Amino acid sequence: METEIRGFDAHTARLAKKYISAGDVVAFHTETVYGLGADARNDDAVRKIFTLKGRPADNPLIVHVHKDYDLSQLIDGEPSYAPALRKAFLPGPLTIVYPSIDKVSRLVSCGGNTLAVRVPSSPIAQEFLRAVNVPIAAPSANLSKHVSPVTAQHVYDDFQGKIPLILDGGACSGGIESTVLDCTEEVPQILRAGLVTREMIASVAGDCGVYQMAAGEKPKSPGIAYKHYSPRCKTALFAPDCIAGALNLYDEEECSGGRAYILCESALISVINGRRMLDLGATGEEMANRLYFLLRDGERDATLIIAIKPKEEGGVMDGVLNRLVRACGGKV
Ligand code: AMP
Ligand code: MG
Repeated sequence: METEIRGFDAHTARLAKKYISAGDVVAFHTETVYGLGADARNDDAVRKIFTLKGRPADNPLIVHVHKDYDLSQLIDGEPSYAPALRKAFLPGPLTIVYPSIDKVSRLVSCGGNTLAVRVPSSPIAQEFLRAVNVPIAAPSANLSKHVSPVTAQHVYDDFQGKIPLILDGGACSGGIESTVLDCTEEVPQILRAGLVTREMIASVAGDCGVYQMAAGEKPKSPGIAYKHYSPRCKTALFAPDCIAGALNLYDEEECSGGRAYILCESALISVINGRRMLDLGATGEEMANRLYFLLRDGERDATLIIAIKPKEEGGVMDGVLNRLVRACGGKV
């Protein structure tokens, strides 16, 4: 199969519609990361997504719709705070988990009684969703466990010859996956941190919890339990106050014939001092925007990426640090 990368125009809209109606999978730009989409009502099409990605069968998918889609076709009621959250943050990088059963393929929610719904703000995503006018189940368009894709080329690198079409909208501005918010209870609860922060949600809904998986518990959002986002080279992660250790490891890797890179915030440029560096930037937004791009870039040349945790915490950094720690295998 030939994989075409196309910008959005009337011809591309017809192509996308043709593929989605035939039960095929199409990748598309969003403001967070690229998505790998199929008709959420079609069991075989949804199954294809899991197979293509090598995604564990118990990790549910997010359904994407355009901004005028009638939500009552997808959900069974909602808590009283949910409409205000939609008004404040959608279209945008917030996924809402609603009570729902049997509105789309049971494979989307892995047999559960909730449905995660997202309304992306990317104009390409909106045009695509409007053209097909069906709910599109879509996880990130990367092979399972690999770094999420933030350019059409990243999608191509993972799925060349396996999908017919990538809807190219350029680089993703957000850079990390959407905030996933459980809205099935009295107080909304963050299942996955992202660019819409706990503080932003609490300011609209009055309160907002953060889900912590208890030991031995079946996770509410299975995705958070999997190793994720990893580059195809060795990684190591150092705490902000362990820079000397990071530099030692860099020098050891170089002495043994490897190629090391240090991934860290801009403030450390002078300390890194001539060594190869992947510059995360200075603000939470900048670091979210650059993280996956740098991991994908780094893995092409590095034998080892040594990350130094940025100092800042809270807000957008919760999402950035969560992805960074998991890209490095979960250990500091
Ligand atoms: P991805 O699209 O690859 O970024 O992954 C989607 C994320 O949303 C994963 O972490 C899933 O576990 C989570 N998710 C999707 N649907 C649900 C749901 N119904 N309930 C809880 N989490 C969900
Ligand atoms: Mg993903």
